[in-house]
Amino acid sequence: DPKAEATAEALAEKLAAGDRRALARGVTLIESTRPDHRRAAAALVRRLHALPRRTLRLGLSGTPGVGKSTFIEAFGLQLAEQGHKLAVLAVDPSSARTGGSILGDKTRMERLSRHPNAFIRPSPSGAALGGVARRTREAILLCEAAGFDLVMVETVGVGQSETMVAEMTDIFLLLMAPAGGDELQGVKRGIMEICDMILVNKADGDLKATAERTRADYASALRLLRGRPQDPNGFPKAAAVSAVSHAGLEAAWTEIAALAEWRRETGVLEARRREQAVAWFRAEVEEALLRRFRRHPAVSELWPRLEKTVASGDTPPQLAAAKALAAFGLGEEER
Ligand code: GDP
Repeated sequence: DPKAEATAEALAEKLAAGDRRALARGVTLIESTRPDHRRAAAALVRRLHALPRRTLRLGLSGTPGVGKSTFIEAFGLQLAEQGHKLAVLAVDPSSARTGGSILGDKTRMERLSRHPNAFIRPSPSGAALGGVARRTREAILLCEAAGFDLVMVETVGVGQSETMVAEMTDIFLLLMAPAGGDELQGVKRGIMEICDMILVNKADGDLKATAERTRADYASALRLLRGRPQDPNGFPKAAAVSAVSHAGLEAAWTEIAALAEWRRETGVLEARRREQAVAWFRAEVEEALLRRFRRHPAVSELWPRLEKTVASGDTPPQLAAAKALAAFGLGEEER
């Protein structure tokens, strides 16, 4: 498609020059469902493939109220002031259901969003998690092409979104609130396993002592979980920070940067990105096939009835599956 290629070429050129309006436009293209936009977005992403730039992708998760936006604003301003170019992308699975967005309705990170070294983009809304994942992965590439050396992908700590974000970033951070001993049990083991650093926020004022105790509790929980042969001693770590007083923010960055450097030198970071690329490739194909399947007229007509009769026990699941696949044109022998 020559028109898509022309749009992509013009945008890619502007991105390479660090044009932020082009970046915003590129992300909008990526999020669009219009067929011509999709084609231009695809052409753009192909052009950006394998840029030889050194970048770091950070994932950050935490439940609502833990202080994510306050933390990103303080932490991000600190890095932007040091000369880093920081992009913040949000992934909000609930916006897929409600059509709203954690970043859209309230003004968050106001100072950071005005900083010349920062780019903030709210969660795309109205798409399934798979769609959000694809858009976010593409948006990361765009930000990097526009010269952002640090990309933070933020998500709320619910559902599958944490795993998804961990799978598209180099280092995964978990922001936690100071808590009593009982509450530590509530952290899902799976989340502990994917995180590289737990940051206990709000280590200030009355909460400081609790935050320090919480940090120590998480530190021992992480030690019990496992060591990671690929990482330097002491990781995954727990640290106490305050997004309000800025205590521990410098130290946290020092730790994160050291881990990133180690993983770069040992090749772990590159290997992880290659694995992620393979997973992305698979997901692209699988999601496209699934979309095609679901939109197939005969399938979509049959589907509600099949689900209903499976739920009621009238049709065995494997028979319902066979019927759906047959409606798509897949016979028994092809499965
Ligand atoms: P998010 O929902 O995770 O983005 O959380 P917010 O950044 O909106 O913060 C939720 C509340 O916690 C707000 O009232 C913040 O002022 C407060 N908060 C955030 N960080 C800190 C901190 O480091 N110390 C204290 N004491 N309060 C904080």
